[in-house]
Amino acid sequence: MPEEGHPLPYLWRRGRHVTILIVEDEPDIRAMLGDYLTGEGYAVLTAATGREAIDCARRLPDLILLDIGLPDMDGLEVCRLLRDHLPCPILFLTARIEEADKLQGFAAGGDDYILKPFSLRELGARVQAHLRRETRARSRTQVRFDQGLVIDYGRRMLYAGEQTLELPKKEFDIVALLSTHPGQVFDRERIYEAVWGLDGVGDSAVVSEHVRRIRARLDAASCAGMIETVWGVGYRWAKR
Ligand code: CA
Repeated sequence: MPEEGHPLPYLWRRGRHVTILIVEDEPDIRAMLGDYLTGEGYAVLTAATGREAIDCARRLPDLILLDIGLPDMDGLEVCRLLRDHLPCPILFLTARIEEADKLQGFAAGGDDYILKPFSLRELGARVQAHLRRETRARSRTQVRFDQGLVIDYGRRMLYAGEQTLELPKKEFDIVALLSTHPGQVFDRERIYEAVWGLDGVGDSAVVSEHVRRIRARLDAASCAGMIETVWGVGYRWAKR
């Protein structure tokens, strides 16, 4: 389903429902938040501890609601551990009203905080605002192709279905060059020049080797056939 064409684009991303991870040790609050957000159309993951949160984060949620007071570790610490790996918005839930908490939260990489007790409507509005902002930021840099492959040129990441592919720099550069000119044939020399520059020290055979590796990664992610070989000439991005 095209993200741009979805009636509620902030609910749909990378070919699946936008997923919110709720990290909250109090069962009542966790259940209340889960029910509310499910009712609003989000997919929901829940975690009761910092450990569980870190496990759930491997499933790449699109937004995290993170309680600061957790039994096994501080929510701020969880945020610091996740921040380097996850680009998604992180909103703290906190009952502590001290200014220091806010500052600490942002220093730990949080994007916002919501004071307990909160109204569900207010929380829903804040969640939506952050997701919309993300969607806008992404739509400037993101291009989507057939077969569920999404290329995020800003973050230099590929998303294939549920998988995130982080390509080495040169491999991503080749994907970026070809995919921004679908259907156009590039010979190896031209790709080499564009990606390695004129001062590169290898030869254009290195291009074939890199293309082979990119294809292997895409094949493994069920996205075969994106880069076509034009025999005797070079490569092109499949035009669909
Ligand atoms: Ca708590």
